Amino acid sequence: MNTDRQPLIQLEGIIKRYKNLTAVNGVNLAVYPGEKLVIIGPSGSGKSTLLRSMNFLEEIDAGVIRFEGREAGYVHRHGRLHLDRQQVVCPLRAEIGMVFQHFHLFPHMTVLGNVMEGPLTVQKKPVPEARAIAYDMLAKVGLSDKRDVFPATLSGGQKQRVAIARALAMRPKLMLFDEPTSALDPELVGEVFDTIHALADEGMTMIIVTHHMGFARELADRVIFMDGGVFVAEGTPQEIFDERMQNERIRTFLSRII
Ligand code: ADP
Ligand code: MG
Repeated sequence: MNTDRQPLIQLEGIIKRYKNLTAVNGVNLAVYPGEKLVIIGPSGSGKSTLLRSMNFLEEIDAGVIRFEGREAGYVHRHGRLHLDRQQVVCPLRAEIGMVFQHFHLFPHMTVLGNVMEGPLTVQKKPVPEARAIAYDMLAKVGLSDKRDVFPATLSGGQKQRVAIARALAMRPKLMLFDEPTSALDPELVGEVFDTIHALADEGMTMIIVTHHMGFARELADRVIFMDGGVFVAEGTPQEIFDERMQNERIRTFLSRII
């Protein structure tokens, strides 16, 4: 246990149910500043639900989320947890950026408009400042020349890089990527991985759900295998991908996707 540094985010006993289905069933996790964590696991194992819970897009049923050591996002009322919308919508959403499989760009706004939106409406920054941030972030993902076009004219890889720029515009301390390349044609995967890699090299703390094991192995400090709403195994990429150290469930899963 690392005791000399405080986790950036810490989850304790997270449970999320959809009616009778328990999608996340008691997850404990501490992610330290600068860490690159990759979560792998079969479809339906609760990976997206867990990420969405960390970004307060899902209201958890039990557990505690701490951000920088402080209990975050919820108030306790009548023995139940309730999302504290004021706390979540402004300060916390800005601290945790999220990138989705299907980009979720605003189709009626230009690329620049998409990237300015968070700083403008969530953080209430003045237009010139929001624009300057958006210019910087689009330069970072290599899309300065696409500022004035609409998302529909972009390739999938470019759309995803805009989505990354949009998340970065809020200056998050933590980035969550939920299968960022799963919707892309194979030849477009590399440019998105390169963008994530560059961000990792700058020291960004990140949690990435991916089915690309080569990428996971290359980027991760730590890999978690999730199945049935729980963490089944956790280790270095070497430990998780080395057949001699794998348990049966990991072996079966990896043999199906590689
Ligand atoms: P993964 O991302 O690992 O594929 P998910 O977190 O999407 O898994 O889903 C975990 C389980 O929760 C699945 O059984 C899925 O069908 C269920 N689930 C996810 N979202 C919802 C929802 N909004 N309503 C009901 N069930 C859901
Ligand atoms: Mg998912």
